[in-house]
Amino acid sequence: MAVRPVVLYETNEAELRQKSEPVLGGARQVKSLVSDLKDTLRHHPNGIGLAAPQIGVHQRVVVVCFGAGDAKKPGPPIGIISPVIIEVGRELPDFDGCLSLPGLYAETVRPHFMRLQGLDERGTAFEWTLEGFDAVVVHHEVDHLNGVLFIDRVSSLGSYYTEDEVRGVYV
Ligand code: ZN
Repeated sequence: MAVRPVVLYETNEAELRQKSEPVLGGARQVKSLVSDLKDTLRHHPNGIGLAAPQIGVHQRVVVVCFGAGDAKKPGPPIGIISPVIIEVGRELPDFDGCLSLPGLYAETVRPHFMRLQGLDERGTAFEWTLEGFDAVVVHHEVDHLNGVLFIDRVSSLGSYYTEDEVRGVYV
């Protein structure tokens, strides 16, 4: 269990651009990675999602907090191992921000409906249907596993916002 430094775009873009590999470690290693991701995310009060490459580990593991839509208080972080998005729908604009790009927000278009497969923290296979901001958050985190950042999805400079203009969540 440890809070790890978050890799910043400003100083280490290459690390964020590297694609993550399939998870090969044993259950204990994966558990430890999920635990570090959760500790690191909890350390950032506005954070609602974190991907392993953001703490310098290029494996396909993310943690997300569901229930953050409509300015509601999000739930606790949960780990998702080897997430695979099998269907998306309802692409809509929404606010986007990232712990690796602190202070920067923009409007991006992401799916507000998703079917997601993966393994939960206990290694059990699941298929979930996600709606609204929950789908947005997972989409942002899976992007990280592919070296994609939210700034890649910003359509124009006019889509950027200052910190004062948004409610301040980072994923
Ligand atoms: Zn991010």
